[in-house]
Amino acid sequence: MTQRVLVAAELKNLLDSAELAGLDVTWISSEQPTPKGDFVAVVPLLSRWIGGTELKHLPNLRIVANVAVGYNNVDVVAAEMRKVVVTNTPGVLTDATADLTWALILATTRRLIEGVDLVRTGKWTGWHPEQLLGLELRGRTLGLFGAGRIGQAVGRRAPGFGLRILYTARSAKSEFEAETGAIRVEQSRLLRESDILSLHVPASPETKGVINAESLARMKPGAILINTARGDLVREEALAEALESGHLGAAGLDVYTEEPAIHPRLLAAPRTVLLPHIGSATEETRRKMATIAIANVQSVLSGRPPLTPVY
Ligand code: NAP
Repeated sequence: MTQRVLVAAELKNLLDSAELAGLDVTWISSEQPTPKGDFVAVVPLLSRWIGGTELKHLPNLRIVANVAVGYNNVDVVAAEMRKVVVTNTPGVLTDATADLTWALILATTRRLIEGVDLVRTGKWTGWHPEQLLGLELRGRTLGLFGAGRIGQAVGRRAPGFGLRILYTARSAKSEFEAETGAIRVEQSRLLRESDILSLHVPASPETKGVINAESLARMKPGAILINTARGDLVREEALAEALESGHLGAAGLDVYTEEPAIHPRLLAAPRTVLLPHIGSATEETRRKMATIAIANVQSVLSGRPPLTPVY
């Protein structure tokens, strides 16, 4: 018997027919509201909110297979109350996101975008000993705000650049510490000592707005903020202010509070590298994310446990 499932239309080219065997798929694009009906599974992108109302309108739903590791677009409490399983796509996107975090670290510390602009606008007049001087990495401190899969992967790439690593996490990571020399510290020390502060905690009520005017003021003058986690972690107005005043040296952002809208002050802020949420955007990773989401659906619908439940 085929089972009716809702799948994000943007995944069409990333899945093959064998993976979808036995499923009666209704493809939904991002612009469409979530349909009502007797669907047993939904496979949403992170831009689709699945909350109490959506769950009420899908009374036969058994699984929400989110195509992301973050699942702040799903009301997990409402889902649990309705006995709907929620899954995510952990692990497969760790390296891609860590690599992109490094792209932002290097782009901000070495002022890549300003350099590209100089060349493209024809304003480059030749080698100058004081042109576009950046921040040397060796001997500096990388602060990881969160050291789960992605935070640790970012940290593992740091010793090659000669960086010292500080990190915060709810629990100590002894293997990571042994491998990289990373030191677990309180949030206040992380803010005070990091030359580059990189965010890797999930968006949740506890972490919302954790980077705000007060925490930014406690950062080192000239420090650089990198966010490849979630926009909700940062008060964007306060970040723009810190960049405009020159207190922060630069910011590299992949994620925003109101995606795809970007705060106008951030768009205009100096020394800011802004990317369109492409942390996991490699061919291999995006295929694996789609595959895991559908495998979770197949598993739950055939009475087996989910492969990657979020709780
Ligand atoms: P993870 O393995 O679950 O790691 C999360 C880390 O945050 C852990 O160190 C955890 O501490 C810490 N943490 C969780 N809740 C916290 C809290 N309330 N206060 C302080 N620390 C807390 O997750 P991940 O796979 O590394 O992914 C991290 C985030 O990256 C995701 O949630 C997602 O939002 C984002 N992401 C973005 C992209 C992108 O395209 N830009 C791609 C992938 C992921 P413990 O280890 O002690 O539990």
